[in-house]
Amino acid sequence: MTSITLHGAAGEIGGNKILLEDKETKIFLDFGMSFGKLGNFFTPYLQPRKWSYINDFIKLGILPDLEGLYRADYENRYRASKLDPEYDGIVLSHPHLDHAGYISFVRADIPLHCSIGGKAILQALEKTSVGFNEYIYLKEAFKLRPYKREPTKLTRDKETKIERKISLFANQTKIDDLTVHSFPVDHSICGANAFVIETSAGNIVYTGDIRFHGRRSNFSHFFVEKAAEFDPVLMLSEGTRVSERISYGELDLERDLKKEMSDIKGLVVVNFPARDTDRMRSFIEASKSVGRKLIINMKQAYTLSVLERNGVSEVPSLDEVGFYIPKKSWGVYNDNNYPRNIQLGDYAKWEQEMLNKPNAVTSEEIVENPKEYVFRCDFYELKYLFDVQPPKGSIYIKSVTEPFDEEMEIEKSKADNWLKLFNLYPYKQLHCSGHASGAEIQDMIQKIAPKKVIPIHTETPADFRGFDAEIIIKQLREKYTLN
Ligand SMILES: [Zn+2]
Ligand SMILES: [Zn+2]
Repeated sequence: MTSITLHGAAGEIGGNKILLEDKETKIFLDFGMSFGKLGNFFTPYLQPRKWSYINDFIKLGILPDLEGLYRADYENRYRASKLDPEYDGIVLSHPHLDHAGYISFVRADIPLHCSIGGKAILQALEKTSVGFNEYIYLKEAFKLRPYKREPTKLTRDKETKIERKISLFANQTKIDDLTVHSFPVDHSICGANAFVIETSAGNIVYTGDIRFHGRRSNFSHFFVEKAAEFDPVLMLSEGTRVSERISYGELDLERDLKKEMSDIKGLVVVNFPARDTDRMRSFIEASKSVGRKLIINMKQAYTLSVLERNGVSEVPSLDEVGFYIPKKSWGVYNDNNYPRNIQLGDYAKWEQEMLNKPNAVTSEEIVENPKEYVFRCDFYELKYLFDVQPPKGSIYIKSVTEPFDEEMEIEKSKADNWLKLFNLYPYKQLHCSGHASGAEIQDMIQKIAPKKVIPIHTETPADFRGFDAEIIIKQLREKYTLN
């Protein structure tokens, strides 16, 4: 028997946790976070308790209630964890949190199958972000160890780490009886893949997140062509923008950025998604065309260095950009009145490694020559405007999605206040989506010609109804059996 169960991404954008069962084999396609479900219960100041994470999340419907899936250190606080895993793998389409965010909860002996770009992004995230980010190394929680000098006494063990089993995609990957064919596709983060999975009931296509108007549209078209050859019985198709028709592409955006940046007398301040390296490429090219250099933040720079170390070639090199060293808590970097260790005290270890790189840039350099730079500044970095002091004639270009919920509206109104204060308002909005339009989805379905389609990753699955395929709408946790 072969079946599909949506433990997320049913009637919502993201939260993909798609269980595929084929005879004895059970795999998950992605294991992502549902921002909607999380937001229904939590705020930045109302957070789950670490010891009760899995219990609370299962009760709130945020995680599926399944045994043999979760890591024992957390699950044992709630119920006896199974000795052996009951799942054979997680196949990760791409490292956006709505697809990867809850991998941290999954036991280390369930192999994670991903692309090299996907792995590198998760590595960088694990190092540079706060929160429960244990994608590759699982820090064993709630464990005691004896004191080194006084072995009769116990203390918290913060050292023990278990490395997750990770297997990088080859052209085709065997997971027990299943054969997974991976195809790189165009999306708003590197390392994105779509799949064709050979099962005993026929071939199943999973799009992950996909678009056809970015820098890698040829990848997406190649996937569509190949997927059609498999004569699939079922397709799980994303539909984020199924009700939208417009397709404004990454190269249109690059052209418009160049126009906006020309003849600017002051500093060009911009915001774009932190890990979208194709968007970064647009900003690098536009900056170059007007004789400026793009300055990114330290997390982005560190991510580029991790991608480079892993040999991911499709992304900008760290040499093509500068990165900003912000003044943080004590704000005494390069102030010789303070000893070096105090100067470095504001920076995490991974940041300290970056400080001596030749392309590090300080606020003093930007203040001196604003015309030479394009300064990336997201919402949380607006405070650095005090230090970089955008002079008269500066502009702000926002290249992120428009607010789509109440919290984002509130954030936007706060950002507007900052921009008004620094004479960067009104700003210019230039963005293109990471997702295919309705017309492109229709075209993809027509070309792949699956027998049936289950819409996922969309709030309006019924909008697939007009397309040339049998559309099956499944609710959360409702099993669909293929044979
Ligand atoms: Zn997504
Ligand atoms: Zn995505």
